Amino acid sequence: MLPAHALVSSVLALFSSEVFSLHADRCVAPEPAPALRVASFTPSDCSLAQTVPGPLWQPTTVRRIPVVVHLISDTACANGNISDALVHSQITVLNEDFRALTGTPGAAGVDSKLEFFLATEDPAGNPTTGIQRYCNTTWYQDQGSYWNTLAWDPTRYLNLYTNSAGGSRGYVPFLPADPSGAVGQPQDRVVINWLAFGRVGPVVPYHQGRTVTHEVGHYLGLFHTYYAGCGIATAPDCYTTGDRICDTAPNVTSHKGCPVGLTSCGGEPVPVQNYMELTDDACMTGFTAEQVQRMRCTLASYRSTLAQ
Ligand SMILES: [Zn+2]
Repeated sequence: MLPAHALVSSVLALFSSEVFSLHADRCVAPEPAPALRVASFTPSDCSLAQTVPGPLWQPTTVRRIPVVVHLISDTACANGNISDALVHSQITVLNEDFRALTGTPGAAGVDSKLEFFLATEDPAGNPTTGIQRYCNTTWYQDQGSYWNTLAWDPTRYLNLYTNSAGGSRGYVPFLPADPSGAVGQPQDRVVINWLAFGRVGPVVPYHQGRTVTHEVGHYLGLFHTYYAGCGIATAPDCYTTGDRICDTAPNVTSHKGCPVGLTSCGGEPVPVQNYMELTDDACMTGFTAEQVQRMRCTLASYRSTLAQ
């Protein structure tokens, strides 16, 4: 699998919101290569190869996931040095979106009953704000294996880093069902471009915090809705093709903006409002019922010690 930073260039040294706009359509979470999809994997109801929805994965209980946010700015502590208030706004957005809270932009989605909170205890048991700050240009450029130094136990915390994200909007380095065994290791993380973080973030149209919602969707096992092409739209094949989900209409590529009336894959409506597309933050309104089940399954099957 391609490390995300292999995709980027030294242009990052001159990183600016203008550069960001050039790459802003990209989520560089490396979904598995085709060969890996059917290769060895831990069998589960939410493996790389398939989704098996069922009563076990219905969102019946509230699970709360502790988050540590590692804010990495450049060595001058200038670029990337975002405020605590913006971090708090991002946690609020996550909860609005994952709980589909009434009266919020994510109300149209399905309530996953998954919640997120800034960690109140560090790994040693000491009180914490859940926000860690570092000023290091190498790390800011998303280079060097900073996670080996900075990660809090990834089996107990969602480690979220903000930096330049290698010029993408954000990424996770692998899906939790990845047979590499990397889940729970220091590299197990969510990386977000600080220019696409929080509400209101600095760069329109990625200023409503949805980049984090999308990447945490990957972190909990979701594919892009356009992964692996059209697949077969009807059950049961839609659980083993495309994004391994039947209630997201298949489509072949990502979209920008908020296109209306698009169809793909033989007349299927393109799910531009799904969090696992790459449309504008204001365009996205929810996860589907089966995406929620896949995330609940992933939490139980691959991140069993994470939630409280
Ligand atoms: Zn993505």
